[in-house]
Amino acid sequence: MTSTATGLVVVIAGPSGVGKGTVHRSVRARLPDSALSVSVTTRPPRPDEEDGVDYRFVDRPTFEAMVDRGDLLEWAEYTGNLYGTPRQPVLDLVARGRVVVLDIEVQGALQVKRRLPDALLVFLVPPSFEELERRLRGRGTEDDEAVAHRLRTARQEVAQQEAFDVVVVNDDLDRCVEEVLALIEEARRAAARS
Ligand code: 5GP
Repeated sequence: MTSTATGLVVVIAGPSGVGKGTVHRSVRARLPDSALSVSVTTRPPRPDEEDGVDYRFVDRPTFEAMVDRGDLLEWAEYTGNLYGTPRQPVLDLVARGRVVVLDIEVQGALQVKRRLPDALLVFLVPPSFEELERRLRGRGTEDDEAVAHRLRTARQEVAQQEAFDVVVVNDDLDRCVEEVLALIEEARRAAARS
């Protein structure tokens, strides 16, 4: 690996179902000094999710207390649930030269950019909305109403893509991962020079 040990926050945003998880898992597998930020959420856990690994699952009062204490780098309400990124773990990892990946939605991504202007904001888009709907339904984690809500939100999110540093089409996983890795490398080099 040629990158210097310059810490970087990388936000991977994009509509639900676009494949953010698959992309950042592949990116992180190629970057040994990377870490995933574990968010807090008021959403109930899905059957395959583990507390403290996929998310920290909390109730609303606990989440609101974290907001009041300023513990969150960003937070947002998304299709009826609250989601947020604990601030201190991200700052500590970046200070130690790690690439910290945040898998978050658009409102939160824009808050990160305001607070950490050096962060790299990647917006993943699906090849089409039809393909997004197919992926969301195929995943089988949401009922029809929740899928419809996520698709409406997706259209609003895609309309905000200009605010991101780069828009990457997730049509082919390998190509998409290579593109994100190259962007990270470039952003680390730029950060090392500044
Ligand atoms: P899901 O319920 O499918 O796990 O996540 C729903 C959406 O919330 C996804 O777009 C995901 O990227 C986003 N999300 C997850 N964690 C956070 C977070 O900490 N902050 C924000 N703003 N969005 C998050």
